[in-house]
Amino acid sequence: MPVDRVLLAEPRGFCAGVEKAIKALAWMVRVFEPPVYCYHEIVHNRHVVEQFRAQGVIFVDDVHEVPAGAPLMLSAHGSAPEVLAAARNNGRVVVDAVCPLVTKVHHELKVRARKGYTVLYVGHHGHEEAVGTMAVAPSSVRLLERVEDVDALGDLDAVDGQPPQVALLAQTTLSHDEWAGIVDRARERFPDLWMPNRSDLCFATTNRQAALKALAGQADAVVVIGSENSSNTVALEQVAVAFGCPRVIRVNDASELPDDLHGTVGVTAGASAPEALVQAVVERLSPVHGVERSTVTVEEEYFPPPPELRELLRGLESTLMLMNGVPAPGFDGTERVDGDSATRVLADDRSTVAADVLERLAGGCPEASFGARMMG
Ligand code: SF4
Repeated sequence: MPVDRVLLAEPRGFCAGVEKAIKALAWMVRVFEPPVYCYHEIVHNRHVVEQFRAQGVIFVDDVHEVPAGAPLMLSAHGSAPEVLAAARNNGRVVVDAVCPLVTKVHHELKVRARKGYTVLYVGHHGHEEAVGTMAVAPSSVRLLERVEDVDALGDLDAVDGQPPQVALLAQTTLSHDEWAGIVDRARERFPDLWMPNRSDLCFATTNRQAALKALAGQADAVVVIGSENSSNTVALEQVAVAFGCPRVIRVNDASELPDDLHGTVGVTAGASAPEALVQAVVERLSPVHGVERSTVTVEEEYFPPPPELRELLRGLESTLMLMNGVPAPGFDGTERVDGDSATRVLADDRSTVAADVLERLAGGCPEASFGARMMG
C-alpha cells in the first residue's frame, strides 16, 4: 500500500508514566516466581497486556481474587483508597505503579473536599482513572462528561449560608477541546470556581495533541495507534477530526490498516502504544517520498520506580551481594559495578527504555531474571 509520504508526530507513544509502569511490572516479573498479579490492565494497550500475560502475569479487576502473600501491582491509572487498603491485606507484596500526575489529582480532590468544596470532575464515566480518583472523596465530587452536564448540575448546596465553593478538576488524558468547553461553561456558572494553577491534563496528553494538531491539516488521513479503551488515544482521534483531517483511523496495529490509504498520511500513537507498532505501521504504509518528522517538543520527563519497588530491589540486591559478592545484573543482564545498591537500581532504571524491556521479555531473554526469584 504505498502512500506518498508519512508525517510522523513527535512526541507520540510511551509517556513517562507508562514507561514507569511497564518497567515496574517487568521488575516484578524478574524478581518473583510467577504468577505476578496486576490490578487492572497495567496500561491500556492490548499488545502490552498480552506480552505480560505471556510472562505469567494475571490481570484481575478485583484485588480479592489475588491470593494471600502474592505479589500484586496496581496499575498506572491509580486506585481507589479502599482498593489500596484491601490490596495490602493478607500479606500481599503490593507495588503501586500509579502515575504521579494522577496522584496529584487525587491530592487536589482530597484537599478541596476537606475544605468543603463541591468538586466537579471532568472525566469519562467508568474509566479506571476516573473511578479511582472520584473514590477519594465520593460525597464531594460530581462527574461531568459534557458541557450540558454543567447546566444539569442543579443548585449546589450553600454552606453556612454562603454560596457554594466549587472546584474543577480533570482526568489527565482528556482532549483539550473537550476540556475547554466545560471549563468555559463552568466559569460562567461559577465565577469563583477554583482550579489548579496548571490544568490536570498532563504534559504527555498536551504534547501528543499539539504534535497531532501541527500535522492534521496537511494530511489526507491520520492513523492513530492505540487501544479503544485508552482515553488519550481516543482524545487523539477527536483532535485530528477537530483540526480538519478528512479521514481518521484508529488501529491496534498494522494488520488493521485499510488498503486504500493514499497521499500524505499522518501517524501518531497514544501514550500506551509501543514504538514497535508505530514502526510496523510506517513500514506497511511504505511512503514513496519517505517519512517526515513533525516535532513540537522533546520530552525529557522521567518518573522513578514506585517506592515499594525501590525498597524491594535494594533489599534483594543487598542479599544477593552478601550471597554472591557481586551486584545483581542490570535490566539488560549486564554487570553493574558503580555506587551503592540504591544508586545502581535507580541508574539502571533510568537508563532503560520500556520498549527494550518489552522486547527482551518477548524474546525470553535468559538474563531477564534477577538472578534468584522470590516466591510470592
Ligand atoms: S498519560 Fe499522563 S497521566 Fe497518564 S500515565 Fe502518561 S504522564 Fe501519567
